[in-house]
Amino acid sequence: ALPRIAWIGLGIMGSPMSENLVKAGYDVTGFTLEQDKLDRLAAAGGSAAGSVAEAVRDADVVITMVPASPQVEAVAYGPDGILENARSGALLIDMSSITPQTSVDLARAARDKGVRVLDAPVSGGEAGAVEAVLSIMVGGEQADFDAARPLFEVLGRTVVLCGPHGAGQTVKAANQLIVAVNIQACAEAVVFLEKSGVDLKAALDVLGGGLAGSTVLARKKDNFLTRDFRPGFRIDLHHKDMGIVTDAARTVGAALPVGAVVAQLVASLRAQGDGGLDHSALLRAVERLSGA
Ligand code: NAD
Repeated sequence: ALPRIAWIGLGIMGSPMSENLVKAGYDVTGFTLEQDKLDRLAAAGGSAAGSVAEAVRDADVVITMVPASPQVEAVAYGPDGILENARSGALLIDMSSITPQTSVDLARAARDKGVRVLDAPVSGGEAGAVEAVLSIMVGGEQADFDAARPLFEVLGRTVVLCGPHGAGQTVKAANQLIVAVNIQACAEAVVFLEKSGVDLKAALDVLGGGLAGSTVLARKKDNFLTRDFRPGFRIDLHHKDMGIVTDAARTVGAALPVGAVVAQLVASLRAQGDGGLDHSALLRAVERLSGA
C-alpha cells in the first residue's frame, strides 16, 4: 500500500503539490491556516484536518511546506507539533526553504522521537509545482532518500540527494542567489531597452534564444512585458532567502559581492511596500533608480 501522507502548509506551492500526490493515488490529509485552501484539498480528493496533530497522527510521511524557519519550528515542536504527535518511524520531509541550521537542529530533535527527517526544498516556482517538474534538492540519509524517492518523482523531475541534513537547504540558498541575480540582470536590460526605444517583446524574444536566455527570462518575460507582478514568488520570501544565503556565505567565508547588492534591492522593495509582489518586481527597483 502507498504511504499515508500528512501535508502541512497549503499555499501557492503546497496546494498544487499535495494535489499531485492525490492524483497519483496517495491518501493525503492536509492542514493549513486558510479554510479555503483546506476546502480546495478536500474538493481535490484529499482530507482536511483541524490541526497539525490531527493531520499527522496516522501518517507514514509528513510533508511541510510553510514560509520560513519560524513556521517550521511552530509546526514541528511543542505539544501540538509534529514530533510529539507523529508515530514513531514516521518520515518528516520539510520542503520549505529555511536556514540549513534549522534543518540540522530539526533532524537531531526528531531522532530522539524516532522520527526520520529529510530537508527537500524545491525550485521551479508555482508553474513547476502545478506541472510536477520541480527540482528537488535533498539533505539527509540515503535510506530515507530512497524511501521518499517515489513521492519526489510524483512532485518533480530533477531529484538529487546533495549530502547530509541541511545540504538541500544550502543548495536551495545558492539557487535563490542565482535566481535573484538573474532577475536583476533581466530587469536592468528591460529598463535599458525601453529607454532606448527598442520594441521590448522583440528584444526579449531574440535574447531568449541566445546565451542570455534563461529559465528566469522565459518564465518572467510576460511579467516584464505587462507589469503584472502578482505572485508567483513573493518578494518577502526572496528577502528571507537572501538573508539565508548571505548569512551562510559569511559563515563559510564566501564573498557574494553582486548577491549582496541584489539583496539590498530586494530589501528596498519590501521597505517600499512591495513585499507581496512577485520577485520580477525587481524591475520596479531598477525603474526607480532610473527615474522611469
Ligand atoms: P505561501 O505563503 O503561499 O504558503 C505558505 C502556507 O503555509 C500557507 O498556506 C499557510 O497557511 C501555511 N502555514 C504557515 N504557518 C502555518 C502553521 N503554523 N500551521 C499550518 N500552516 C501554516 O508560500 P509558498 O509560496 O507556497 O512557499 C512555501 C515555501 O516554499 C517557502 O519556504 C518558499 O520560500 C518556498 N518556495 C516557494 C516557491 C514559489 O514560487 N512560491 C518556489 C520554491 C520554493
